[in-house]
Amino acid sequence: MKNTKLIALILLLCLCTFSFSVEVYLLENKTPPEKYKTLGDILYVHAVTLLDAIGARYEWNNASKTLVVNWNQNSILFSNNSQTVLINNSPAYISNEPLILDNRFFLPLLETCKLFGLRVVTKEGQVHVFSEISYLLYYFSIPDGYAFNFQLPVNFVISEQSEERLLLDVYGSMTNRDWFLTNARLGIDRIQVANSTQDTLKAFIRFEIVTKPDRQAVVTQENGTLWIRTQNRVIPEIVVNTKNKIVIDPGHGGIDPGAIGNRGTYEKNVVLSLSKAVKSYLEKNDFIVYLTRENDVFVDLKQRAIFANNKGADLFVSLHLNSFEDISVQGVEVYYYPWSEESYKIRLNRLYGALSEETVKAKVQRKLLSTNQSKKYAENIRDTLQKSGLSIRKVIPGDFAVIAYTEMPAVLIECGYISNSNFERDLQKPEVLNLLAENIAKSIQNLF
Ligand SMILES: [Zn+2]
Repeated sequence: MKNTKLIALILLLCLCTFSFSVEVYLLENKTPPEKYKTLGDILYVHAVTLLDAIGARYEWNNASKTLVVNWNQNSILFSNNSQTVLINNSPAYISNEPLILDNRFFLPLLETCKLFGLRVVTKEGQVHVFSEISYLLYYFSIPDGYAFNFQLPVNFVISEQSEERLLLDVYGSMTNRDWFLTNARLGIDRIQVANSTQDTLKAFIRFEIVTKPDRQAVVTQENGTLWIRTQNRVIPEIVVNTKNKIVIDPGHGGIDPGAIGNRGTYEKNVVLSLSKAVKSYLEKNDFIVYLTRENDVFVDLKQRAIFANNKGADLFVSLHLNSFEDISVQGVEVYYYPWSEESYKIRLNRLYGALSEETVKAKVQRKLLSTNQSKKYAENIRDTLQKSGLSIRKVIPGDFAVIAYTEMPAVLIECGYISNSNFERDLQKPEVLNLLAENIAKSIQNLF
């Protein structure tokens, strides 16, 4: 029964959430589209295709549904549907389990690249995977920060973020020396640059950026240069129990473009503009609003939820655009977490590791209550959006990481289908985007 449910869920995910369509290049060879798939927000690659491309040896065991890979004198064992990976017989964990799809074994692309020390670079809807390492060559000062120059193009992934601290990982890169920078004038407590081998076989560079409370770091990249700048942080005035705190989560970003329309519009860019506009409407109406990303960067899904949990938000709203083969499909969808005590306990374990029985019980109770609230909020949001004239497809449960890991009521809104050419064209018009933002903001405002 459980298996049937799982298969049904996977099928549903395959049918409903082609959440991003990108081109994948493995060592500069274009990979046929059937060799990679997206499930929810995760890009998966056909294991054998990736391993052949990088020249790794491997053995598939069909009885146990396991794949043993030999890579740089290490043996790595992946199991179907398991987040545990055995590296030289010691367990390590990945957040997204390998899956068998159409009788073929798929690995989560980004995590596998991190594990193997492969470099990932994205440009214009293409994801490129390289095996050669990009060395950090030097850094130089700019008026409002620092620039770091790499030998070859790189992309960074935000693996942790809080108010003052940012951890950036650059997969497939290395530095021959560690750097430690501090700059009182720019409000930089420290920028620490060092190789990390945490959870991986090969080193990658980790940047730790800590700023003074009144400053925030803004990180951008261009080919082989990583720019770290600081700017003044607008500190929202804290008024106890009067203002509601909303965290808006612009989906995707950086390495992950999200869905791409036929005219080349990126979901990640649209939802970022949309989120900023929703934020400004809500702020005018006395809400405190935080965004999980302010720039075109990839932020780990768990980190987005942790960010909202740390803020003690009253509501978490993730904004996305959908995509489907049938380009006539359009309309808004609102998702909330499908309650399951069993699967939430697994989520808790992934988020916190082992917790006391009492803590688990309290957290489960809290999530159950907030999930009930999420469902009501989702329906309420639908009603407001419908009244404003938007076409609504459905309000349904969806097991997305961001709304699963959040502790407060949380919804994920697919604001429309970017695969629909009319909608994609409309999104180019600022007045259309602003109206959509205003309607979403109103639907949030109505909840409080
Ligand atoms: Zn999306």
